[in-house]
Amino acid sequence: MTTRKAAHTKNWIRKDKRLAIYLRDGMACAYCGKGVEESGMALTLDHLLCRSKGGGNHEGNLLTCCHHCNCRRKTMDLGEWLEQEMNDAKAMAKWIAKHTALDLRPFRIEAKKLIAERSPQAIPPTPTARS
Ligand SMILES: [Zn+2]
Repeated sequence: MTTRKAAHTKNWIRKDKRLAIYLRDGMACAYCGKGVEESGMALTLDHLLCRSKGGGNHEGNLLTCCHHCNCRRKTMDLGEWLEQEMNDAKAMAKWIAKHTALDLRPFRIEAKKLIAERSPQAIPPTPTARS
């Protein structure tokens, strides 16, 4: 396997952990509900407590978020952000608390499986002639 340097923005978390969190959160932005297809861009991870304010990379501090929402929230306090953006900030806060408290292990197992299935080693070589 070659050591391909990923973009630094995606390099801070293991691939399977990132995917596990996306799976945990239903493969859609937790804030606006848009999935990969709808938002037309890759999902990101939002730090509930921003890194600049001491928030870590534990799954309990990470939430699936589209690029658009992540850019808009920036380092805004979560409570403030929910009040400003959500119709029901309390319900949203509950949803976030419930999801971020979930055990990530089963999602990591699923994520590793998905990654293994998609890895180049798992794909048989392409035949040179088509029948
Ligand atoms: Zn969003």
